[in-house]
Amino acid sequence: MSELIFEKSHEGRRAVYFPECGVESVSLPEKYARTSPAPLPEVAEVDLVRHYTNLSRKAYGVDNGFYPLGSCTMKYNPKINEAAAALPGFTHMHPQLDEADAQGCLEIMYKLSRSLCEITGMDAITLQPAAGAHGEFTGLSLIGAYLRDNGMSARTKLIVPDSAHGTNPASAAMNGFTIVNIPSTPDGFVDLDALKNAVGDDTAALMLTNPNTVGRFDRNILEISKTVHDAGGLVYYDGANLNAIMGIARPGDMGFDVVHLNMHKTFSTPHGGGGPGSGPVGCKSFLEKYLPSPLVCEDNGKYTFFTPEKSIGKVQSFYGNFLVYLKAYCYIRVLGGTGLKQASENAVLNANYMLEKLRDTYDIPFEGSCMHEFVMSLDKLKHETGISASDIAKGLIDNGIHPPTMYFPLIVHEALMFEPTETESRETLDNAVEVMKKLYETAKTAPDTLHAAPVTTPVGRPDETAAVRNPILKY
Ligand SMILES: *Cc1c(COP(=O)(O)O)cnc(C)c1O
Repeated sequence: MSELIFEKSHEGRRAVYFPECGVESVSLPEKYARTSPAPLPEVAEVDLVRHYTNLSRKAYGVDNGFYPLGSCTMKYNPKINEAAAALPGFTHMHPQLDEADAQGCLEIMYKLSRSLCEITGMDAITLQPAAGAHGEFTGLSLIGAYLRDNGMSARTKLIVPDSAHGTNPASAAMNGFTIVNIPSTPDGFVDLDALKNAVGDDTAALMLTNPNTVGRFDRNILEISKTVHDAGGLVYYDGANLNAIMGIARPGDMGFDVVHLNMHKTFSTPHGGGGPGSGPVGCKSFLEKYLPSPLVCEDNGKYTFFTPEKSIGKVQSFYGNFLVYLKAYCYIRVLGGTGLKQASENAVLNANYMLEKLRDTYDIPFEGSCMHEFVMSLDKLKHETGISASDIAKGLIDNGIHPPTMYFPLIVHEALMFEPTETESRETLDNAVEVMKKLYETAKTAPDTLHAAPVTTPVGRPDETAAVRNPILKY
C-alpha cells in the first residue's frame, strides 16, 4: 500500500513559499487561537504532485474505460459542460448577491426548470435537492404536506415494490410513512393483483420507477397509476435513471404526480466519488404550493426568487448546487429535443446489443428486449462451477473493465446488471462481450484463476466479511 500524504510529511518542507506579507499582522484574541499548529502535511512540490498523480492512476473512472455500472448511468459527460461551469462569471458569484446582480444565474435556473418540466411532463420543479435520495425525501415531504393539508393524515402507507432501489423505503421511513412491500411478477413487473390488494383508505402513495430496476418498461403503467389514484393515493416516480426515456416518454403522462431526477446520472454531471450532485423534484400543479423555497419566476425578462405559499421550507443552502444545474442546462441546450431522444434511443440500442450477444452464453432471467440496462443471473453457473457473480466481476477488472452492478436488484439471484449507456462505441461493446464470453469459458475450465482475480490491481481481494464485522473507519 502507498503511504498517506501525512506519512510523507517532513517538518519544514514546503510546496509553496508565500511572499513577505505586505500588511501589518494582527493576532486573534487568545480564546480563538490554536494552542498548537494545525497538523498539516509538509511536503515538497514534486512529492505532492507525484502523490496525487499516483493516486489518480490507481483509481478507475469513466475517463479510463468502459464502466457499465447498472442503475447508475456512468456515461461519458462532454467536457465542454465542465468548461462552462468553470467560467469565472459563474464560479465567482456570491450566493448572497442581490437578485438584480445575479440575473444570469436566475435565468439559467428558470430555464432549466422549464426544460425539466417539459422533459418529465410536470408543471413545477425545485432544483434544490442535492442528490437522488435527497430528492426522494423532498418529494415525499411534498406528498406528506399535501395529505396533512387536506385532512388525509390517516394515509400513512407507502407502497414500494420489492424490486425498488434501497433509497425508496429509506426515504419513505424518514418521512414517517409505513412501508408496504409488494412482490413483483416473475418478469419484474408490478403485480397488479398484489397492488389492488394493497391500496386502500390508508394509502399515501406508490413509489415506482419505470423502466423498473431490471431494466424493463412496465406496460401496465396507466392501470397502475389509475389503481392508486382511484384509491385516493398519489404516485411517485423515481426518475434517477431517465436515460431510456428522456425525449420519448414522460412520467407526467404515465400518471405520476411527483418525480425526482438525478442530474449526476442523466444530465452531464460525473457520478461517483461523492462530488456535488443534484436531484430536482418535479410535481403536478396541485403540489406546487408545497415546493421548497426559493423558486424562480420570470416577469417581463426579470427574474426573482419567491417562496411558494405553503412551502415545506428549505432543503438545501442558498441556490443548491448551481454549477451542476449549469452543466445540465448546457447539455439540454446542446442536444435539444431530438438529441435527447437520440441519446435515449442509443442507450436502449446499446443495452439490447449487448444483451442479445450474451443471451446464448449467460442466463437472462427475462424474455424479450430491455430498456437502458439488463440483468443476468449467474445462479446456474455458480452451482455448476463455483464461480459467482462477484468472481466474474473481479475477472472483468483484470480485463480493464469496471464491474457491472452486482447483487441488485435483490429479486434476481447472483445478479449482474449492465448499463452500457449511449456514449459507448460498438467496438467497446464488442470487446466487453468477448471478455464476458472468455470469462465464462474460464469459469468452466479453470475456475481457480477466477477465484484469484483481480491480480492487476493495487488491492486484490479485500476480506469483505472482516471489513463489515470489524470496520476500521479512521486512520
Ligand atoms: C441512484 C439511484 C437513486 C439514489 O440517487 P443518489 O443520488 O445516489 O442519492 C435512487 N433511485 C434509483 C433508481 C437510483 O438508481
